[in-house]
Amino acid sequence: MKPVVIRAGNFWDGISEKPLGPREILVLGETIAEIGKSVSEPEGAEIIDLPGHTVTPGFIDCHVHLSLRPELLGSFWSYSPSYKALLGAEALKTLLMNGFTTVRDCGDMDLHGFTVRDLKLAGERGIIPGSRLVCSGHIISSRGGHMNAMLSLAPDSHPWENCLADGPDEIRKVVRNEIKHGAEWVKYAASGGFSTAGDDPLQVTYTQEEMDALVAAARDFNRPVSVHVFGDEAIRRSVLAGVRSVEHGSMVSKETLHLMEENGVYIVPTQLMATRPARLAADDAFWQALNAPAHMRIKVRKYQDALLKGARNIASGKVKIAFGTDLGIFSYRTNGACEFFEMVKNGITPVRALRAATSVAAELLQRDDIGVLAPGRNADIIAMPGNPFKDITVTERVDFVMKSGTVMRRNGAPSL
Ligand SMILES: [Zn+2]
Repeated sequence: MKPVVIRAGNFWDGISEKPLGPREILVLGETIAEIGKSVSEPEGAEIIDLPGHTVTPGFIDCHVHLSLRPELLGSFWSYSPSYKALLGAEALKTLLMNGFTTVRDCGDMDLHGFTVRDLKLAGERGIIPGSRLVCSGHIISSRGGHMNAMLSLAPDSHPWENCLADGPDEIRKVVRNEIKHGAEWVKYAASGGFSTAGDDPLQVTYTQEEMDALVAAARDFNRPVSVHVFGDEAIRRSVLAGVRSVEHGSMVSKETLHLMEENGVYIVPTQLMATRPARLAADDAFWQALNAPAHMRIKVRKYQDALLKGARNIASGKVKIAFGTDLGIFSYRTNGACEFFEMVKNGITPVRALRAATSVAAELLQRDDIGVLAPGRNADIIAMPGNPFKDITVTERVDFVMKSGTVMRRNGAPSL
């Protein structure tokens, strides 16, 4: 690989309070070698000029579903694992082109097999282009809980459901089965949700004893745990059980947020999915784009005030926020960077939102090679026209993407 020097009109490292002004970055191989007002220029180096652009670390989306689309909700058994793999490959490429150099899949919706693990292998072996992938296996759920309630199946129908478990013994077995099949994180559902027909976001779907057993089983295998959860009681129990990240957490109280702060638990608030619908009129075009089922609209109406209050609680506290979109619930035609605008709209400062998708996300994922631009770090580097600290929506117009030192998009056009 040729050495590369990037000349950034403006530069933000993923940590600082604000952009640091013009900088040059020397990339050798897959790694950042040097950053400064001017860097050494090895012979034959390729120069990439990005005037008028802010250069930042590649974004990290900590909550996507590669094998989910709105049209699959409620009909998982009508689509084969191969179809879901094709959807996932398309999603990984789209995410990368939008500047998301790393994503964590937060629940494989291939309930027959392990499609997301296969996508990860295919990506690492260079078979498909796309974002770096961290995978969580399936969302472990109680019977009647979130991963069961989305099914409108006849009572005598028993398809293979590889993620349902009740009671500590069965839960331990399913946790270990997910780990056996490549889960780097363990994900479970502690409450109902919005996208599913047969449950309610305020239900608590596991006992404290069950959550404790699940987190302990994961911890013995050095696997962090993330939890799908909306209501306050289910969040509180999950935090007591020892989860690393609360996903959604939309109706969290200030008391529970304090408990999260004390325990160093991250929140991934997925506000594009939670608060944007809550603010909209029932006939807004966004619902069309979301392709949302009727029960979702009804539940969002029901909990509208609670969702917006929870968002205010999250913005006003000190809890560690990591960026996540829940894409897959949406079509991948929605650029996940819209989440930045939503976070800022909910009172989260631009710097906190941007750190959420860079340095804080890397911290959540326990990665010291991504999320920050510094010598020795992976050369995951993106650029956007303008300054996201002044106009957060420029994050939606990323037009330069480098992943591990390879340019994947330049001048707005994909290099793939
Ligand atoms: Zn999700």
